[in-house]
Amino acid sequence: MALSTAGMKSRFFLMDRQLQRKDPFIRVDCDLCGGGNHGVLFDKEGFVHVRCRDCGLVFVNPRPAGHGERQKSEGTGTMGDDRPTSAQIGRMRRELASMEPFRRYNRMLEIGAGRGWFLDEASKSGWRTWALEINRDALHHLESRRIDTIITEPAETFHVDPGTMDVVRIWDVIEHLESPRKAAERIRHALRPGGLVRLSTTNFASLSRWLNGPEWVYLNGADHIHLFEPKTITRLLSEIGFTDIRVATRSFNMRRKLYHPERDLPVKFPFLRPVRKLIDETIRLTPYGHQMIVTAIKAER
Ligand SMILES: [Zn+2]
Repeated sequence: MALSTAGMKSRFFLMDRQLQRKDPFIRVDCDLCGGGNHGVLFDKEGFVHVRCRDCGLVFVNPRPAGHGERQKSEGTGTMGDDRPTSAQIGRMRRELASMEPFRRYNRMLEIGAGRGWFLDEASKSGWRTWALEINRDALHHLESRRIDTIITEPAETFHVDPGTMDVVRIWDVIEHLESPRKAAERIRHALRPGGLVRLSTTNFASLSRWLNGPEWVYLNGADHIHLFEPKTITRLLSEIGFTDIRVATRSFNMRRKLYHPERDLPVKFPFLRPVRKLIDETIRLTPYGHQMIVTAIKAER
């Protein structure tokens, strides 16, 4: 294994991780274009982040061979508070309202359903719901939700009746996947023609990432192995056969703390809230917010 790009300290860190996990690192080609030509951006905590020279996708390479398997027992799907705040419930209801024009078969799938809050809210407004989840903690939470069907297959290989879903939601999940391309293909397969995919992921081309560099809070190579930007997420969805692709961004996160799923969320600063709100309201007018919200339609044929 070539580790010439890693500094001495992180090299030991990597070896230590490998010994702890008995999980060798493997080199991979670009998931978006299949290319093997990429340049190193930086090494953070033993995880080398590269950018594909052909399509611009940023990803962790090499990565632990068992990354996908580890998502069953680790990951961030259930971190945070025990129940949604009233503000979160309001946001979910507004999002559900935006999905109403797509309700034809009354079937909605969420990939990486986490604690199941969104599908619980969807079922209250009459949707039949499918949850895809592989994380054990999350599955435990989902058992107590109003969800019609729980699928425990990976996002890259799951099965539902083809062409039957009105809406597929995949929220802060794609950055964890070994193959976003295969997942996007499965989503297209699951959707009916004219159906909606609604996706959220971090924006590597955001102002907060530029200001923080490798210290950006969402750079956590053990968990986030694909870092998209408006350009790369648009190319992925377009190549799979989606149309009407819209990318919006929001939020400006300046916290420089390291991000680890096994630790609590970083402490929030309530006194900054009025200023943050102003910044957030401004940045959503630009493509530089740290969260991308992407919608796309499965082409009618
Ligand atoms: Zn590429």
